[in-house]
Amino acid sequence: MKALILGAGEAFDESFPNTSVLIESETNLLLDCGFSVPPMLWRSGARVDALYLTHAHADHFFGVPAVLARMCDEPRRDPLPVVTQHDVWQRLRQVLELAYPGSEAKRTFPLVFVPATAGTTVPLNELTLRFAPTRHGIGNLAVRVECGGRAICLSGDGAFTEQSKALYKGADLLFHEAYSFEQRSSHAHVEDVVAMAVETGVKRLALTHIERHVRMKERARLEALRYDTGIAVLLPRGGERIAV
Ligand SMILES: [Zn+2]
Repeated sequence: MKALILGAGEAFDESFPNTSVLIESETNLLLDCGFSVPPMLWRSGARVDALYLTHAHADHFFGVPAVLARMCDEPRRDPLPVVTQHDVWQRLRQVLELAYPGSEAKRTFPLVFVPATAGTTVPLNELTLRFAPTRHGIGNLAVRVECGGRAICLSGDGAFTEQSKALYKGADLLFHEAYSFEQRSSHAHVEDVVAMAVETGVKRLALTHIERHVRMKERARLEALRYDTGIAVLLPRGGERIAV
């Protein structure tokens, strides 16, 4: 598997697109698709075979209407599985109708809802997906994607929980939001995330969704994490491709 990082930013960063990762395998799986992600996806030229959405905040799923509209332009015929929580699926359908009224009837390919719930396993061709809740303002399910004995995880938003820690155990690559050096009620603390990754045996940790002022003003403190922690800590900008 490879992970193509389309964006690594928080919601309102002027330079870093919203956090989104394309898992590249025989099946290409797009993990989250916020409003600033579609141009990054189109520039990559990559195909999307399936979609996973962690939760229904705009910086994680408002890019979907544009991505689907461009697929209709091609035109796509293959079904597109959308793996997500039931309420996210419902909200997605509302957003699609608001963005392009009547688009469902005109779509050139079927969207196939595949429910994601904590503790269940979803097979997607050669990929296997599992999920766990984080602590966020609305329901967010972190995801673990496995293929051929390798695992890539993405937290979505929120502080980690005992369930999400178990999900990340031994992962080859973990993308985890690391919003701030301050404790927040619904986001993760940078240093707590690094300590958790060490504890759970994560091999490489990519810090994403860093609050824009922290990203710009605390660069030295963030860079120090790359050398002081004993595991590989990455600070992606977006555009990088990582093989696992
Ligand atoms: Zn969120």
